[in-house]
Amino acid sequence: TSFGFKEVKEDEKSQMVGNVFSSVASNYDLMNDLMSAGLHRLWKDRLVSELNPFPGMKHLDVAGGTGDVAFRILESINSTRRRALQDVSEDGLQEETQIYVCDINPNMLNVGKKRAMERGLGENQSLIWVEGDAEALTFDNNSMDGYTIAFGIRNVTHIEKALAEAYRVLKRGGRFLCLELSHVDIPVFKDLYDYYSFSIIPAVGELVAGDRESYQYLVESIRRFPPQETFASMIADAGFQKVEYENLVGGVVAIHSGLKL
Ligand code: SAM
Repeated sequence: TSFGFKEVKEDEKSQMVGNVFSSVASNYDLMNDLMSAGLHRLWKDRLVSELNPFPGMKHLDVAGGTGDVAFRILESINSTRRRALQDVSEDGLQEETQIYVCDINPNMLNVGKKRAMERGLGENQSLIWVEGDAEALTFDNNSMDGYTIAFGIRNVTHIEKALAEAYRVLKRGGRFLCLELSHVDIPVFKDLYDYYSFSIIPAVGELVAGDRESYQYLVESIRRFPPQETFASMIADAGFQKVEYENLVGGVVAIHSGLKL
């Protein structure tokens, strides 16, 4: 692409991503907590509060295998509903919320389904698990109120295709939100962060998951991902309006958003 971050050959990249996530799926939660010092939970909370979920919404969470984002959306909707129920009779609240969790890797989806069961959400009709590729979604045009992707777009082979698909499936007025590891541009903090990512993460990966290479790859994929401004213009190029981003922890992660108008 014109952005120059495609150093890994495409088929090699998809294969790598497959391997990485098959290997990390079972250690996934532990590694996330360790590597982010538990912060990924707050970042996902922030993503979902930005989304402002509502009862009856149709939402698509892409690369959402673990269910982390979907569970939060559901919890947020349920607390809205509980508040609403205090005011009106239940008859008026028959909306059918649908939260689709789409992931290319069945192992990750299984981790998510297992976690749904542990949370007592195993039979929840609102959660729908779909194996699929962000670049070629199987959902209809203009069918979703919201689209989220958390720590996923970085692994997609053609980011532009994933953005075009996000735009296609969203309804007019629908919101695109992306949480992703991004770029730190603050002196001294950047050096510390570089040291952390290049030295500590692969070492922890080896120690805890017995897999240094996969975590090395994750760190490199963060570096290859376009910086905040570049990614924002890619989102705008896909057709989105009011594109904005918010840096968290000095750009360690960023939340990008856009509206389909
Ligand atoms: N969203 C979850 C979270 O934040 O905990 C999982 C993030 S995990 C780091 C990245 C996920 O992206 C993996 O489950 C992987 O299978 C999925 N993935 C990678 N490429 C994909 C693609 N092209 N389409 C859909 N999912 C993809």
